[in-house]
Amino acid sequence: MQQKQLDITLVTPTASMSAEAYGGRAKCLQRLVRLDLPVPQTVALSFKAVHEIASGIPADVTTILGHFDHSDLICVRPSSQSPDWGGPGAVLNIGMNKARYAVLCDTLGADAAAILYLSFVQAYSIHVARLDADIFDHIKGQDHAALEQALRAYEEEAEEVFPQERDAQLTQVLASMARAWEGTSARLLRQAKGASSGAGLGLVVQQMAFGLGQGECGSGLLQLVSSATGQPQVTGRYKRQSQGREGLNGDQEAIFLTSDLRGASLQQAVPEIFETLIEQAKLMRIRLREEMQIEFTIQDGQLYVLDGVRVQRRAPAAARIAVALAEDGIITKKEALLRVDPRSLSELLHRQVDPDAARVVLCEGMAASPGAAAGKIVFTSEAAQASAARNEACVLVRRETSPEDIRGMHAASAVLTERGGMTSHAAVIGRGIGLPCVVGANEILLNLSDKTLTTRNGQVFQEGDVITVDGTNGQILAGQHAMIEAALNDAFQSLMTWADKYSDIRVRANADTPADAQTARNFNAHGIGLCRTEHMFFEADRLTLMREMIFADESDERRAVLDRLLPMQRSDFIKLFKIMQGMPVCIRLFDPPLHEFLPSDRAGIRKLADALDLPISHVSRRIEDMAEYNPMLGLRGVRLGVTVPEIYEMQAQAIFEAAIEASQDGDLVVPEIMIPLVSAKREVELVKGNIDSVAARVRTSSGVNFAFKLGVMVETPRAALRANEIAQHSAFLSFGTNDLTQMTYGLSRDDAGRFMSRYVQKQVFFEDPFHVLDTDGVGELLQLGAERARKAHPDVTISICGEHGGNPESIAFSRAHGFDYVSCSPFRVPIARLAAAQLAIQEETAYLSAQ
Ligand code: PEP
Ligand code: MG
Repeated sequence: MQQKQLDITLVTPTASMSAEAYGGRAKCLQRLVRLDLPVPQTVALSFKAVHEIASGIPADVTTILGHFDHSDLICVRPSSQSPDWGGPGAVLNIGMNKARYAVLCDTLGADAAAILYLSFVQAYSIHVARLDADIFDHIKGQDHAALEQALRAYEEEAEEVFPQERDAQLTQVLASMARAWEGTSARLLRQAKGASSGAGLGLVVQQMAFGLGQGECGSGLLQLVSSATGQPQVTGRYKRQSQGREGLNGDQEAIFLTSDLRGASLQQAVPEIFETLIEQAKLMRIRLREEMQIEFTIQDGQLYVLDGVRVQRRAPAAARIAVALAEDGIITKKEALLRVDPRSLSELLHRQVDPDAARVVLCEGMAASPGAAAGKIVFTSEAAQASAARNEACVLVRRETSPEDIRGMHAASAVLTERGGMTSHAAVIGRGIGLPCVVGANEILLNLSDKTLTTRNGQVFQEGDVITVDGTNGQILAGQHAMIEAALNDAFQSLMTWADKYSDIRVRANADTPADAQTARNFNAHGIGLCRTEHMFFEADRLTLMREMIFADESDERRAVLDRLLPMQRSDFIKLFKIMQGMPVCIRLFDPPLHEFLPSDRAGIRKLADALDLPISHVSRRIEDMAEYNPMLGLRGVRLGVTVPEIYEMQAQAIFEAAIEASQDGDLVVPEIMIPLVSAKREVELVKGNIDSVAARVRTSSGVNFAFKLGVMVETPRAALRANEIAQHSAFLSFGTNDLTQMTYGLSRDDAGRFMSRYVQKQVFFEDPFHVLDTDGVGELLQLGAERARKAHPDVTISICGEHGGNPESIAFSRAHGFDYVSCSPFRVPIARLAAAQLAIQEETAYLSAQ
């Protein structure tokens, strides 16, 4: 007996009920009751009660109805723990029958009574008796005749008279709603939204406020902010002579809430009720500590609040709402920080396809760099640059991009590649420069000579046709879609400032150019964690020199060419140092295989032969000689530093001279030099010896003493395993998790995109390991590496600088293992800063509650 009373509870201010047992709606209604809002009488059924009903035990309708007057009509609404998990639709007007109809014809009027009865008959038939909706197709209007027809249709189809007893109706409604929740498809649907397999459903049974009849009657929704921006704006609609919220969306007869030149409004019609509603909404905001939407009904001039739900919001609105609540002292800054999903910030940082726009999807790939842009298709970097020169937006479409495409990528509004994964060239550069990018769209067919793109269903797009790249969702859309602009507003800035107060791990940016560095500064990065210097050699004037250097036979010749590259490198670094104003800048020495700088087509080879004044055959032979079966595991990174030391020496000289110059009229620069692809201690020793000599030379020639730090990029499994000996010569170790993932899995980062989605679907991998750090396998190497390095060199600085750096999961990992910083694409810096703050706050809260 005791148990029953607990599972069926009248919602009163003091009733003992939690959202975990009765669902969010029931709990919210109790809060509204506590605020003394005019909530109609409500009874809540617990998850347990509803589960019993679903398993065949009839609902205790006597107890439920005992809380209502015998003449009340009632409705039943779902109350799951989270509103996002859905639930069966509400059923209104339970209790309608011939007798009530007759009474309501007198009190509300014949029209209103007919609508109430008719809508109940229809809802009951379809949702409870599970009859086909089309049995009512022939019925026109909502009058008495229509009602008669509907009752007849029910009788014919169900072979029984429409149930007349309120308790019988309610029993069936409750049973049908309870069973619907336990169905397989409903379960799968809510599990996809994060519900546990055993998530329960509560139900609330509420006295009806009709919204129909004599005097001012109707239903509406009201909230105090815009769902799109979060800006204060009374938003919603009201519809006279209506029930429920369904009719309000886009309904011609729905009127405005506030006075509006375009038409009638609730404010003009019933100003006192409007004012009351505004006051109630404000009260709810303060006491429920959230922006709420009110569902209300007016019955003959009398206001009822039926429900309150958390205002639906897009990412920019979520940030603004959280900040405004904190600024108004309603929630703390910590709570505001916890209320914004870090990943959703990318919607504030980039333009997005308007979520309300109809989408014509041509193909899908990997969402490699967020944001969206439209433009005319071009298939070469040259065409992209020509397009930019004409001020025409273009989308660069390539099989995959290489460093030679950098200028084209800068010129394009977005990039689409047929191949590649989350750490492929296009993806890394796209994220670095904030360029929307979809990679690995392997369902498209590119014909580069005809300049066409063919989709899976045979649709052909020519150069010049307009497409939209949605890098946030990994979709390519036909034509130009409507966009919403980035929202780097004051709310975003406040959130970021607060985040920095709580975050306890530093966040640097991967930045290769002055523009990247400026973006990093704008997002308050704590320095540059990775400057990939090879990108600096692809500028047209430098490329020729690089090629000359590659073709030089002797060290002296190489040095002579490198001497001409030196001032260019120096000026690159001066710019970076000046922008970063004394913050740490970690410069990675040259990394890629040299043949990436050589032409592969006949025309390019001829041009090179001209420039070098060599026969074509000689040039071709040298290029062939340099080819490798596995270039990413070949002569690159430190292996070049050891075998062709002149390149690193030139870079070190440029770095030191730039540091001296930038320090002269600015903050002191202590450059960090990072050696890539190390796998053995001896490699570090050799490079360190050379760099120390260069430093000594520069100190002597300049007469300036300067400091620098030399460190190692740990991106081979061996370097992680041997971190103890490598750390002895290193001021810092930075884990390059892109290559480390590639080598740990033995999985090409450029080709994995071809089958990754199938691997994830079949749950071989929980997630694409190039996207989300594999904390088990790769993570074990990071942990081992960090532990061993610290044993040998307790002060060694440890970080992650692969593309994973900005992900909340990687930040959690890095914090847990005491890393000093993470470094990520500039546009991910805010996401990383917020994620870091959230982790610190959550940890503190857990610690305090354990005390
Ligand atoms: C890495 O390998 O993780 C890295 C940051 O370097 P890159 O992506 O340039 O190979
Ligand atoms: Mg690497």
